[in-house]
Amino acid sequence: MKVLVYGGSFDPPHIGHIRSVQVAAAALEPDQILLIPAAEPPHKALSKASPPAAERLAMAELAAGEIPGCQASDVELERSGPSYTSDTLRQLRQRYPAAELIFLMGTDMLLTLEDWHEPETILSLASAAVFARETGREREIEAAAARLRQRYGATVYVLSGEPVRVSSTQVRALLPARRGRELVPESVYGYIIQKRLYGAKPDFDWLREKAYAYLKPGRVPHVQGTEAEARSLAARWGVDVDDAAEAAIVHDITKKCSYDEQLCLCEKYGIIPDACQLASEKLLHSLTGGPFAAERFGIPEHIVQAVRWHTTGRPAMTDLQRIVYLADYIEPNRHGFSGLAELRQAAYEDLDAAMDLALRMSLAEVREKGRQPHEDTVTAQQYYEKRLKERGVPPVAWTPEADQD
Ligand code: ATP
Repeated sequence: MKVLVYGGSFDPPHIGHIRSVQVAAAALEPDQILLIPAAEPPHKALSKASPPAAERLAMAELAAGEIPGCQASDVELERSGPSYTSDTLRQLRQRYPAAELIFLMGTDMLLTLEDWHEPETILSLASAAVFARETGREREIEAAAARLRQRYGATVYVLSGEPVRVSSTQVRALLPARRGRELVPESVYGYIIQKRLYGAKPDFDWLREKAYAYLKPGRVPHVQGTEAEARSLAARWGVDVDDAAEAAIVHDITKKCSYDEQLCLCEKYGIIPDACQLASEKLLHSLTGGPFAAERFGIPEHIVQAVRWHTTGRPAMTDLQRIVYLADYIEPNRHGFSGLAELRQAAYEDLDAAMDLALRMSLAEVREKGRQPHEDTVTAQQYYEKRLKERGVPPVAWTPEADQD
């Protein structure tokens, strides 16, 4: 029996780790593969951005899921103090008394192996396998392997294959800039974004792909239009364009849910809808959308709030909230209702005036359908009307009977 042992920080696991294991698995045909995140890596300090060890284990489990016969092990997380490989191999030797243990590593680790804690123990308990992290160091690797064989009687496998030049350090630096998605396994990327580990923000293509999957296909053009409009309104008003885009992409994420599903989501997220909200699925989706997107994509609270208020509005909205509200109203796919042209113009000229007009339009539409508007919309409209008065800005002229757009 052969057990391939792959230790590391896995902070996070990346495609270089996966490739390394795949090459080793193809060459050495192990019966079992263990990914072992270090609790306290002895060779290097964990970065300040590192999540708790349990998160690294969870990511290692996801990465292991990409490789047949592979599983993550918490053997080092259960020990305190520095995670010495010699201690781990001792434990594994007890667990697998007759197996060949093969300790897999990259170039950097092979070249420094003699400086590790108890290198002779490591090399007596396990064979070593090395897969280069980069090209051009073949001679150095061969020389190091020869030295270990000679000095310690070690078995060292030098694996050949095209290296993948990537490090966890590089991935950690890219994630906050919405980059690096292609450098980690898809499942690990989803986990990182869901938990917003390393200050990660989602790649927009990824977020669209995931969010659109919850929509009826017919709603996608509206969400695309809302994103485009929210981006340009955010640019106009000096609001973070990426925040506006994230909010727009997820703003209708629970719109497809049935009434019963909405109620289940309310219960799950501890939301208590009022009577008016209970009478309208349209109002329920703006209550549930933010928490739903937060649970899946780690949407931060200010974006959750922008989704929360995109249907009724409320007094004293933040600029981001107003932008999402207005973008939803005026995005390019909207047409054929009274006041739209005026609202489009106002949205780029004066946000208070645009909100006052949009809320008047919304109130008129609800009342025309014979329904009671939500009190948040009523008080929001009063708020923006008062604000315009205080500022001496005339409201945009519009009556429900005005010409169709
Ligand atoms: P960091 O950038 O945080 O130092 P890392 O990318 O070196 O992390 P580790 O988890 O510390 O990743 O490495 C675990 C093991 O994987 C080590 O043996 C390392 O040499 C090896 N390794 C890391 N990246 C690669 C790669 N791109 N190709 C082959 N082996 C790699």
